[in-house]
Amino acid sequence: MRTPVFDLLDQLVDSCQDNRDGQVAQYIPELADADPEKLALALCTPDGRVYTSGDAEHEFTMQSISKPFTYALALRDRGLDRVLQSVDVEPSGNAFNEISLDSRGRAKNPMINIGAITTYALAGDDDMTAGDRLEHVLDGLSQFAGRELSVAEDVYQSELSTGWRNLALAALMKGNDLLVGEPQDAMHGYTRACAINVDARDVAVMGMTLATGGVNPLTKKRVIPQWVARQVLSVMTTCGMYDSAGDWLSRVGIPAKSGVSGGVLGALPGQVGIGAFSPRLDRFGNSVRGVKIYERLSHQLGLHIMNTPAPSIEAVGQRSHTSDGYRLIDLQGRLTFATAEMALRHFQAIPPGRDDVVVDFSLVPAIPRVGAIMILEGLRRLRADGHAVILVDPHGRVEQHEEADETIATRIVDALDDV
Ligand code: GLU
Repeated sequence: MRTPVFDLLDQLVDSCQDNRDGQVAQYIPELADADPEKLALALCTPDGRVYTSGDAEHEFTMQSISKPFTYALALRDRGLDRVLQSVDVEPSGNAFNEISLDSRGRAKNPMINIGAITTYALAGDDDMTAGDRLEHVLDGLSQFAGRELSVAEDVYQSELSTGWRNLALAALMKGNDLLVGEPQDAMHGYTRACAINVDARDVAVMGMTLATGGVNPLTKKRVIPQWVARQVLSVMTTCGMYDSAGDWLSRVGIPAKSGVSGGVLGALPGQVGIGAFSPRLDRFGNSVRGVKIYERLSHQLGLHIMNTPAPSIEAVGQRSHTSDGYRLIDLQGRLTFATAEMALRHFQAIPPGRDDVVVDFSLVPAIPRVGAIMILEGLRRLRADGHAVILVDPHGRVEQHEEADETIATRIVDALDDV
Protein backbone atom coordinates (compact mmCIF):
# COMPACT_ATOMS: atom_id res chain seq x y z
CA MET A 1 0.00 0.00 0.00
CA ARG A 2 1.13 3.55 -0.68
CA THR A 3 0.16 5.89 2.13
CA PRO A 4 -2.50 8.38 0.98
CA VAL A 5 -0.55 11.21 2.59
CA PHE A 6 1.34 11.63 -0.73
CA ASP A 7 -1.96 12.06 -2.60
CA LEU A 8 -3.17 14.49 -0.03
CA LEU A 9 -0.15 16.73 -0.58
CA ASP A 10 -0.43 16.43 -4.36
CA GLN A 11 -4.09 17.44 -4.21
CA LEU A 12 -3.28 20.46 -2.08
CA VAL A 13 -0.55 21.58 -4.45
CA ASP A 14 -2.75 20.98 -7.53
CA SER A 15 -5.60 22.95 -6.01
CA CYS A 16 -3.40 26.07 -5.79
CA GLN A 17 -1.50 25.72 -9.05
CA ASP A 18 -3.82 27.94 -11.09
CA ASN A 19 -3.75 30.84 -8.68
CA ARG A 20 -1.60 33.57 -10.27
CA ASP A 21 -2.46 36.40 -7.91
CA GLY A 22 0.22 38.57 -6.35
CA GLN A 23 3.64 39.72 -7.38
CA VAL A 24 7.18 38.49 -6.92
CA ALA A 25 9.20 40.73 -4.53
CA GLN A 26 10.95 43.43 -6.53
CA TYR A 27 13.02 45.38 -4.03
CA ILE A 28 15.92 42.94 -3.93
CA PRO A 29 17.07 42.79 -7.58
CA GLU A 30 17.99 39.11 -7.51
CA LEU A 31 14.62 38.08 -6.03
CA ALA A 32 12.74 39.82 -8.85
CA ASP A 33 14.14 37.15 -11.20
CA ALA A 34 12.50 34.27 -9.31
CA ASP A 35 10.37 31.89 -11.38
CA PRO A 36 6.82 32.82 -10.28
CA GLU A 37 5.41 29.44 -11.29
CA LYS A 38 7.33 27.43 -8.71
CA LEU A 39 5.19 25.81 -6.06
CA ALA A 40 6.29 23.37 -3.37
CA LEU A 41 4.98 21.78 -0.22
CA ALA A 42 6.72 19.56 2.34
CA LEU A 43 5.61 18.07 5.64
CA CYS A 44 7.88 16.57 8.26
CA THR A 45 6.56 14.27 10.99
CA PRO A 46 7.91 14.08 14.56
CA ASP A 47 9.83 10.90 13.72
CA GLY A 48 11.48 12.48 10.69
CA ARG A 49 9.38 11.23 7.75
CA VAL A 50 9.31 13.95 5.09
CA TYR A 51 6.54 14.09 2.46
CA THR A 52 6.96 16.43 -0.48
CA SER A 53 5.00 17.59 -3.49
CA GLY A 54 5.62 20.03 -6.37
CA ASP A 55 9.01 21.72 -6.74
CA ALA A 56 10.21 20.54 -3.37
CA GLU A 57 13.87 20.40 -4.40
CA HIS A 58 13.90 23.92 -5.79
CA GLU A 59 16.16 26.08 -3.65
CA PHE A 60 15.25 29.57 -2.54
CA THR A 61 16.72 31.97 -0.01
CA MET A 62 15.28 31.92 3.48
CA GLN A 63 14.86 35.69 3.86
CA SER A 64 12.65 36.28 6.90
CA ILE A 65 12.24 32.57 7.55
CA SER A 66 15.74 32.78 9.01
CA LYS A 67 14.50 35.15 11.73
CA PRO A 68 12.95 32.59 14.13
CA PHE A 69 16.12 30.51 13.95
CA THR A 70 18.60 33.31 14.64
CA TYR A 71 16.27 34.37 17.46
CA ALA A 72 16.48 30.80 18.78
CA LEU A 73 20.27 30.89 18.69
CA ALA A 74 20.37 34.25 20.47
CA LEU A 75 18.04 32.92 23.20
CA ARG A 76 20.06 29.73 23.58
CA ASP A 77 23.38 31.59 23.66
CA ARG A 78 22.45 34.60 25.82
CA GLY A 79 19.33 33.67 27.77
CA LEU A 80 15.87 35.23 27.68
CA ASP A 81 16.59 38.21 29.94
CA ARG A 82 19.51 39.44 27.86
CA VAL A 83 17.60 39.13 24.60
CA LEU A 84 14.58 40.90 26.10
CA GLN A 85 16.79 43.83 27.06
CA SER A 86 17.15 44.59 23.35
CA VAL A 87 14.15 42.99 21.64
CA ASP A 88 10.60 42.75 22.95
CA VAL A 89 7.89 40.28 21.87
CA GLU A 90 5.02 42.57 20.92
CA PRO A 91 3.44 42.64 17.43
CA SER A 92 4.44 45.88 15.75
CA GLY A 93 1.38 46.54 13.61
CA ASN A 94 3.79 48.04 11.06
CA ALA A 95 5.58 46.83 7.94
CA PHE A 96 8.55 44.49 8.41
CA ASN A 97 11.17 47.16 7.64
CA GLU A 98 9.74 49.94 9.81
CA ILE A 99 11.42 51.63 12.75
CA SER A 100 9.29 49.76 15.27
CA LEU A 101 10.57 50.56 18.73
CA ASP A 102 8.96 50.57 22.16
CA SER A 103 9.20 53.44 24.63
CA ARG A 104 12.53 52.07 25.95
CA GLY A 105 14.05 52.00 22.48
CA ARG A 106 13.87 48.21 22.16
CA ALA A 107 12.91 46.62 18.86
CA LYS A 108 9.26 45.56 19.06
CA ASN A 109 9.92 41.93 18.14
CA PRO A 110 12.49 39.63 16.50
CA MET A 111 10.35 38.83 13.43
CA ILE A 112 10.72 42.29 11.89
CA ASN A 113 13.99 43.59 10.45
CA ILE A 114 15.01 45.90 13.27
CA GLY A 115 14.55 43.11 15.82
CA ALA A 116 16.10 40.42 13.65
CA ILE A 117 19.24 42.47 12.94
CA THR A 118 19.58 42.97 16.70
CA THR A 119 19.03 39.30 17.57
CA TYR A 120 21.47 38.26 14.85
CA ALA A 121 24.20 40.18 16.72
CA LEU A 122 23.23 38.38 19.95
CA ALA A 123 23.82 34.90 18.50
CA GLY A 124 27.07 33.53 19.91
CA ASP A 125 29.10 35.53 22.43
CA ASP A 126 30.86 38.89 22.73
CA ASP A 127 34.28 37.45 21.95
CA MET A 128 33.33 36.36 18.46
CA THR A 129 34.64 38.19 15.42
CA ALA A 130 32.10 39.12 12.76
CA GLY A 131 33.37 36.17 10.72
CA ASP A 132 32.98 33.77 13.65
CA ARG A 133 29.40 34.91 14.10
CA LEU A 134 28.58 34.28 10.44
CA GLU A 135 29.91 30.74 10.80
CA HIS A 136 28.11 30.27 14.09
CA VAL A 137 24.75 31.25 12.61
CA LEU A 138 25.20 29.23 9.41
CA ASP A 139 26.21 26.23 11.49
CA GLY A 140 23.26 26.74 13.87
CA LEU A 141 20.74 26.95 11.04
CA SER A 142 22.31 23.88 9.44
CA GLN A 143 21.69 21.98 12.66
CA PHE A 144 18.03 22.91 12.43
CA ALA A 145 17.93 21.60 8.85
CA GLY A 146 19.98 18.48 9.59
CA ARG A 147 22.32 19.19 6.68
CA GLU A 148 25.02 21.68 5.78
CA LEU A 149 23.38 24.79 4.35
CA SER A 150 25.12 27.40 2.22
CA VAL A 151 24.66 31.03 1.26
CA ALA A 152 23.44 32.19 -2.16
CA GLU A 153 26.24 34.72 -2.77
CA ASP A 154 24.41 36.41 -5.66
CA VAL A 155 21.32 37.13 -3.52
CA TYR A 156 23.51 38.25 -0.62
CA GLN A 157 25.44 40.72 -2.80
CA SER A 158 22.24 41.86 -4.46
CA GLU A 159 20.59 42.70 -1.16
CA LEU A 160 23.73 44.34 0.22
CA SER A 161 23.67 46.73 -2.71
CA THR A 162 20.19 47.90 -1.72
CA GLY A 163 20.26 47.33 2.04
CA TRP A 164 20.57 50.93 3.22
CA ARG A 165 17.41 50.82 5.21
CA ASN A 166 18.57 47.78 7.15
CA LEU A 167 21.88 49.51 7.82
CA ALA A 168 19.95 52.49 9.16
CA LEU A 169 17.92 50.20 11.44
CA ALA A 170 21.14 48.64 12.78
CA ALA A 171 22.64 52.09 13.36
CA LEU A 172 19.52 53.19 15.19
CA MET A 173 19.76 50.23 17.57
CA LYS A 174 23.43 51.05 18.10
CA GLY A 175 22.41 54.61 18.93
CA ASN A 176 20.00 53.20 21.51
CA ASP A 177 22.91 51.23 22.97
CA LEU A 178 21.08 47.98 22.31
CA LEU A 179 23.16 46.47 19.51
CA VAL A 180 26.16 44.24 20.14
CA GLY A 181 29.12 45.09 17.86
CA GLU A 182 29.15 47.27 14.78
CA PRO A 183 26.01 48.11 12.77
CA GLN A 184 27.72 47.11 9.50
CA ASP A 185 28.58 43.68 10.88
CA ALA A 186 25.05 43.10 12.18
CA MET A 187 23.47 44.22 8.90
CA HIS A 188 25.86 42.12 6.79
CA GLY A 189 25.39 39.07 8.99
CA TYR A 190 21.63 39.41 9.04
CA THR A 191 21.56 39.81 5.26
CA ARG A 192 23.73 36.73 4.88
CA ALA A 193 21.41 34.71 7.10
CA CYS A 194 18.51 35.83 4.89
CA ALA A 195 20.45 34.62 1.84
CA ILE A 196 20.88 31.05 3.10
CA ASN A 197 19.55 28.59 0.54
CA VAL A 198 16.94 26.02 1.52
CA ASP A 199 14.24 23.98 -0.18
CA ALA A 200 10.73 23.26 1.08
CA ARG A 201 11.94 20.01 2.59
CA ASP A 202 14.58 21.80 4.70
CA VAL A 203 11.97 24.26 5.90
CA ALA A 204 9.68 21.42 6.99
CA VAL A 205 12.51 19.76 8.94
CA MET A 206 13.50 23.07 10.53
CA GLY A 207 9.87 23.65 11.50
CA MET A 208 9.62 20.19 13.00
CA THR A 209 12.78 20.87 15.02
CA LEU A 210 10.93 23.75 16.66
CA ALA A 211 7.75 21.68 16.92
CA THR A 212 9.50 18.80 18.74
CA GLY A 213 10.73 21.27 21.34
CA GLY A 214 14.23 21.57 19.90
CA VAL A 215 15.34 18.11 18.74
CA ASN A 216 16.03 17.68 15.02
CA PRO A 217 13.78 14.82 13.83
CA LEU A 218 16.40 13.56 11.34
CA THR A 219 19.63 13.77 13.31
CA LYS A 220 17.87 13.28 16.67
CA LYS A 221 20.25 15.92 18.08
CA ARG A 222 19.02 18.63 20.43
CA VAL A 223 19.64 22.00 18.80
CA ILE A 224 17.97 24.27 21.36
CA PRO A 225 16.45 23.76 24.81
CA GLN A 226 12.71 23.23 25.08
CA TRP A 227 12.04 26.66 26.60
CA VAL A 228 13.69 28.31 23.60
CA ALA A 229 11.45 26.39 21.19
CA ARG A 230 8.40 27.49 23.20
CA GLN A 231 9.53 31.11 23.15
CA VAL A 232 10.20 31.08 19.40
CA LEU A 233 6.88 29.40 18.60
CA SER A 234 5.06 31.92 20.77
CA VAL A 235 6.57 34.86 18.93
CA MET A 236 5.96 33.23 15.55
CA THR A 237 2.31 32.87 16.56
CA THR A 238 1.84 36.53 17.38
CA CYS A 239 4.30 38.21 15.00
CA GLY A 240 5.22 35.71 12.28
CA MET A 241 3.02 36.70 9.36
CA TYR A 242 3.89 40.34 8.82
CA ASP A 243 0.87 42.50 9.29
CA SER A 244 -1.69 39.74 8.94
CA ALA A 245 -0.68 37.72 12.01
CA GLY A 246 -4.13 38.01 13.64
CA ASP A 247 -5.95 36.94 10.52
CA TRP A 248 -3.50 34.08 10.08
CA LEU A 249 -3.87 32.87 13.65
CA SER A 250 -7.63 32.78 13.49
CA ARG A 251 -7.88 31.29 10.00
CA VAL A 252 -4.90 28.92 9.87
CA GLY A 253 -3.80 28.61 13.47
CA ILE A 254 -0.31 27.26 12.82
CA PRO A 255 2.73 29.11 14.24
CA ALA A 256 4.46 30.33 11.10
CA LYS A 257 6.93 32.71 9.51
CA SER A 258 6.96 33.87 5.95
CA GLY A 259 9.70 35.49 3.89
CA VAL A 260 9.77 37.77 0.86
CA SER A 261 11.24 35.08 -1.38
CA GLY A 262 7.91 33.23 -1.05
CA GLY A 263 8.67 30.64 1.62
CA VAL A 264 6.32 29.91 4.51
CA LEU A 265 7.61 28.00 7.53
CA GLY A 266 5.07 26.30 9.81
CA ALA A 267 5.53 24.45 13.09
CA LEU A 268 2.63 22.85 14.90
CA PRO A 269 3.86 21.76 18.34
CA GLY A 270 4.20 18.00 18.62
CA GLN A 271 2.62 17.32 15.24
CA VAL A 272 4.18 18.60 12.08
CA GLY A 273 6.75 20.88 10.45
CA ILE A 274 5.68 22.49 7.19
CA GLY A 275 7.53 24.14 4.34
CA ALA A 276 5.67 25.84 1.50
CA PHE A 277 7.10 27.90 -1.32
CA SER A 278 5.70 30.03 -4.10
CA PRO A 279 7.19 33.43 -5.01
CA ARG A 280 4.16 35.62 -5.73
CA LEU A 281 3.30 37.71 -2.67
CA ASP A 282 0.14 39.38 -1.41
CA ARG A 283 0.01 42.97 -0.20
CA PHE A 284 1.32 41.93 3.23
CA GLY A 285 4.36 40.20 1.73
CA ASN A 286 3.09 36.65 2.30
CA SER A 287 3.18 34.04 -0.47
CA VAL A 288 -0.31 33.97 -2.05
CA ARG A 289 -0.32 30.26 -2.85
CA GLY A 290 1.61 29.52 0.35
CA VAL A 291 -1.19 31.08 2.41
CA LYS A 292 -3.86 29.20 0.41
CA ILE A 293 -2.08 25.87 0.91
CA TYR A 294 -1.81 26.47 4.65
CA GLU A 295 -5.49 27.42 4.89
CA ARG A 296 -6.51 24.20 3.19
CA LEU A 297 -3.98 22.08 5.04
CA SER A 298 -5.09 23.40 8.40
CA HIS A 299 -8.74 22.88 7.57
CA GLN A 300 -8.43 19.43 6.01
CA LEU A 301 -6.04 17.97 8.55
CA GLY A 302 -7.50 19.70 11.60
CA LEU A 303 -4.19 21.43 12.38
CA HIS A 304 -5.51 24.63 13.98
CA ILE A 305 -3.63 25.09 17.24
CA MET A 306 -6.82 26.20 18.98
CA ASN A 307 -8.79 23.11 18.02
CA THR A 308 -10.14 21.75 21.27
CA PRO A 309 -8.16 18.67 22.28
CA ALA A 310 -9.79 15.42 23.40
CA PRO A 311 -11.64 16.11 26.64
CA SER A 312 -9.67 15.31 29.73
CA ILE A 313 -12.45 13.05 30.96
CA GLU A 314 -10.97 10.44 28.63
CA ALA A 315 -7.88 10.30 30.81
CA VAL A 316 -9.45 7.99 33.34
CA GLY A 317 -10.59 4.77 31.80
CA GLN A 318 -12.90 2.15 33.18
CA ARG A 319 -12.66 1.72 36.91
CA SER A 320 -13.82 -1.20 38.90
CA HIS A 321 -13.51 -2.45 42.40
CA THR A 322 -14.45 -5.69 44.01
CA SER A 323 -16.22 -6.22 47.30
CA ASP A 324 -13.06 -7.43 49.00
CA GLY A 325 -11.55 -3.97 48.84
CA TYR A 326 -9.59 -4.18 45.61
CA ARG A 327 -9.70 -1.02 43.53
CA LEU A 328 -8.48 -0.43 40.00
CA ILE A 329 -7.88 2.90 38.33
CA ASP A 330 -6.95 2.84 34.64
CA LEU A 331 -5.28 5.98 33.37
CA GLN A 332 -4.92 6.74 29.71
CA GLY A 333 -3.54 9.55 27.56
CA ARG A 334 -1.00 12.22 28.43
CA LEU A 335 -1.18 13.18 32.08
CA THR A 336 -1.35 16.95 31.70
CA PHE A 337 -2.61 19.20 34.49
CA ALA A 338 -6.24 18.69 33.49
CA THR A 339 -6.02 14.91 33.23
CA ALA A 340 -3.95 14.52 36.39
CA GLU A 341 -6.49 16.64 38.25
CA MET A 342 -9.22 14.26 37.14
CA ALA A 343 -7.21 11.23 38.22
CA LEU A 344 -6.63 12.83 41.62
CA ARG A 345 -10.36 13.25 42.06
CA HIS A 346 -10.73 9.52 41.56
CA PHE A 347 -8.04 8.93 44.17
CA GLN A 348 -9.87 11.31 46.50
CA ALA A 349 -13.09 9.29 46.16
CA ILE A 350 -11.39 6.29 47.81
CA PRO A 351 -12.07 6.52 51.54
CA PRO A 352 -9.15 5.88 53.94
CA GLY A 353 -8.72 2.19 54.66
CA ARG A 354 -6.61 -0.82 53.86
CA ASP A 355 -7.63 -1.48 50.27
CA ASP A 356 -5.27 -2.59 47.53
CA VAL A 357 -5.35 0.30 45.04
CA VAL A 358 -4.07 -0.70 41.62
CA VAL A 359 -3.23 2.22 39.32
CA ASP A 360 -2.62 1.15 35.74
CA PHE A 361 -0.40 3.40 33.58
CA SER A 362 -0.16 0.99 30.60
CA LEU A 363 -2.02 3.39 28.30
CA VAL A 364 -0.21 6.51 29.39
CA PRO A 365 2.15 7.62 26.59
CA ALA A 366 3.80 10.41 28.53
CA ILE A 367 3.68 12.17 31.84
CA PRO A 368 4.70 15.82 31.65
CA ARG A 369 6.45 17.08 34.75
CA VAL A 370 3.38 18.75 36.18
CA GLY A 371 1.35 15.51 35.81
CA ALA A 372 4.11 13.50 37.49
CA ILE A 373 4.28 15.83 40.45
CA MET A 374 0.52 15.70 40.93
CA ILE A 375 0.15 11.95 40.48
CA LEU A 376 3.13 11.05 42.68
CA GLU A 377 1.74 13.24 45.41
CA GLY A 378 -1.68 11.58 45.00
CA LEU A 379 -0.09 8.13 45.33
CA ARG A 380 1.77 9.26 48.43
CA ARG A 381 -1.48 10.45 50.01
CA LEU A 382 -3.26 7.19 49.20
CA ARG A 383 -0.47 5.34 51.00
CA ALA A 384 -0.70 7.78 53.91
CA ASP A 385 -4.42 6.90 54.11
CA GLY A 386 -3.40 3.28 54.77
CA HIS A 387 -3.81 1.75 51.29
CA ALA A 388 -1.39 -0.56 49.57
CA VAL A 389 -0.73 1.12 46.23
CA ILE A 390 0.29 -1.12 43.36
CA LEU A 391 1.48 0.46 40.11
CA VAL A 392 1.11 -1.23 36.74
CA ASP A 393 3.75 0.70 34.84
CA PRO A 394 5.17 -1.47 32.06
CA HIS A 395 6.75 1.46 30.20
CA GLY A 396 8.30 3.00 33.30
CA ARG A 397 6.38 6.27 32.93
CA VAL A 398 6.13 6.85 36.67
CA GLU A 399 9.55 5.46 37.40
CA GLN A 400 11.06 8.15 35.14
CA HIS A 401 9.83 10.77 37.54
CA GLU A 402 9.87 8.96 40.85
CA GLU A 403 11.98 10.72 43.42
CA ALA A 404 12.08 10.58 47.20
CA ASP A 405 8.44 10.55 48.30
CA GLU A 406 8.84 12.83 51.27
CA THR A 407 10.22 15.74 49.28
CA ILE A 408 7.41 15.80 46.75
CA ALA A 409 4.74 17.56 48.77
CA THR A 410 7.06 20.40 49.68
CA ARG A 411 8.21 20.76 46.09
CA ILE A 412 4.77 20.87 44.56
CA VAL A 413 4.32 24.61 44.71
CA ASP A 414 7.90 25.42 43.68
CA ALA A 415 7.73 23.00 40.81
CA LEU A 416 4.46 24.34 39.53
CA ASP A 417 6.10 27.75 39.57
CA ASP A 418 8.62 26.85 36.92
CA VAL A 419 6.86 24.48 34.52
N1 GLU B 1 16.27 40.22 3.68
C1 GLU B 1 14.96 40.80 3.62
C2 GLU B 1 15.01 42.22 4.14
O1 GLU B 1 15.65 42.49 5.09
C3 GLU B 1 14.02 39.97 4.40
C4 GLU B 1 12.66 40.54 4.44
C5 GLU B 1 11.57 39.52 4.61
O2 GLU B 1 11.69 38.37 4.15
O3 GLU B 1 10.59 39.90 5.22
O4 GLU B 1 14.44 43.12 3.59
